[in-house]
Amino acid sequence: MKTSLENLKPLMRCSVCNHKYEPVKALLLEEQDGQTTFHLTCAQCGVSTVVFVSTTQFGVVSMGILTDLEGDEVRNLFGDEAISSDQVLDVHTFFKSFDGSAKEFM
Ligand SMILES: [Zn+2]
Repeated sequence: MKTSLENLKPLMRCSVCNHKYEPVKALLLEEQDGQTTFHLTCAQCGVSTVVFVSTTQFGVVSMGILTDLEGDEVRNLFGDEAISSDQVLDVHTFFKSFDGSAKEFM
């Protein structure tokens, strides 16, 4: 069985142009009960994706959906909670933590 880290790795690439996502482009939309939703925008082709990540007893399950909406617009769909700098930092830490080698992002 794959580790959760292996399951999440494909999310780090744009499904359109295969460009690696920049962690700073990730917007945390919602986080509850082991379920996390991100909005990611590709730095290369500008395509946006909403990614759902669920932690289950079987491991981490992820699903990405292409969207035309900007991060702020999607965030409105998830409610009007402001995203704090702490949450932005959480996303950053999240991305760093599931790819152990820092050089992947350089
Ligand atoms: Zn792209």
